[in-house]
Amino acid sequence: MTEESIRALARKFLKKNDLNSFPVDVKKAAEIVGAMVIFQKLPKISGVLLRGDHKDFPYIIGVNVEKSFYHRRFTIAHEIGHILLNHFKKFKILYDSDDFILNSSQLEREANIFASELLVPKDKLKSVLKLNPSMKGLCNFFQVSEQVMQYRLKEILIINSFVKFSQ
Ligand SMILES: [Zn+2]
Repeated sequence: MTEESIRALARKFLKKNDLNSFPVDVKKAAEIVGAMVIFQKLPKISGVLLRGDHKDFPYIIGVNVEKSFYHRRFTIAHEIGHILLNHFKKFKILYDSDDFILNSSQLEREANIFASELLVPKDKLKSVLKLNPSMKGLCNFFQVSEQVMQYRLKEILIINSFVKFSQ
């Protein structure tokens, strides 16, 4: 899938499920895709995606409780990405390491793109930016790390400069 189609999928998911208040309720988003979220100690792992046997919850997302609050939110969004992008069909279990945000494999990259758009959708980011927030203010509003926010801002600025260039 192209980056833009993954971003569009995330935005469509938010819209379709009325997830339009911020910060995005990732636990509710997980429930919508049929994933039960469990917090536990997972040494050297950020999160794990497993098959569940509950009829309402065909998936289980295990989240490392020892990670920061923002990191845990991103992990849940990332695992939702693996589910909605059909990455999980090929695997019985998917592990995401401590530093999965930096992982450059195709599937991990796709799940990260999805997660970043789910937590910080383009239109909302653009409207919040008009209020001239600080970096900390932006991170607080969307409840994401500075690393994720910088990544989103870079993408938005590229789009903006492209628009300027083409006018
Ligand atoms: Zn992953």
